[in-house]
Amino acid sequence: MPATPAWPPSSLPRLFVDHLLSTDATLALEGAPANYLVNVLRLGPGARVKLFDDRSGEWLAEIVEAGKKRVALAVTRHLREREPVPDLWLLFAPIKRGRIDWLVEKATELGIARLVPVLTRRTIVERLNLDRLRAHIVEAAEQCERTALAELAEPQKLAALLAAWPAERLLYFADEAGGEPFTPGAGASAILIGPEGGFTDEERSAIRALPQARPISLGPRILRADTAALAAVALWMGTAGDWATSSSA
Ligand code: SAM
Repeated sequence: MPATPAWPPSSLPRLFVDHLLSTDATLALEGAPANYLVNVLRLGPGARVKLFDDRSGEWLAEIVEAGKKRVALAVTRHLREREPVPDLWLLFAPIKRGRIDWLVEKATELGIARLVPVLTRRTIVERLNLDRLRAHIVEAAEQCERTALAELAEPQKLAALLAAWPAERLLYFADEAGGEPFTPGAGASAILIGPEGGFTDEERSAIRALPQARPISLGPRILRADTAALAAVALWMGTAGDWATSSSA
């Protein structure tokens, strides 16, 4: 899979817009993005901005009107196609605010395709603010030059998730009680990380019974759930994802 991020990073502001972009399109932004461009960056007509829409890639646009609450932009040039995203899902038991925000932000930067909150027996955080998590995904994608957003799934119970597990997707199950050293293979994959209290023995058996499950160890130390998640994602990206083929110059 080819390298995706542009290097060096651009000094132009870069924004995600939920609007299909195309040559010569015009669009208006209101709310936070308009405030950011006009009141924070103090940009006015003629200023250039990069936009991406998670569908058609990245575009250059120019501000044509800048009001305090509304900015009009004209798309001028296509810069990049939407990147191919390595096929890795991260399944994680929700953890406290702050740590989960960090987890979502960093997993997006590392290149994850899909984030799936999983409710397990010992999950202590059951109510999730998905809008807040989505905002972190968008911000991280804007910052790290992704042209594709990570998808955020609705929270799912572990049993339901296992019952509907796709036949062709490997499930790397990070088992603090022991597993094989993590040596990721190619192909559609997912990494499952448990809650701070760990998995119950019953859950552990149910996961291990899945033919696609591969119990893995992340070393001799017990990692916090967020550390475990990001360590495993980094290891997968470095061996089976797009880091192996990336060059930064
Ligand atoms: N309370 C558990 C215990 O003391 O054994 C620890 C749970 S750990 C904080 C949270 C999750 O991170 C685990 O369920 C597992 O998925 C993952 N994890 C942490 N350290 C790990 C390791 N060394 N190997 C595999 N998975 C690990």
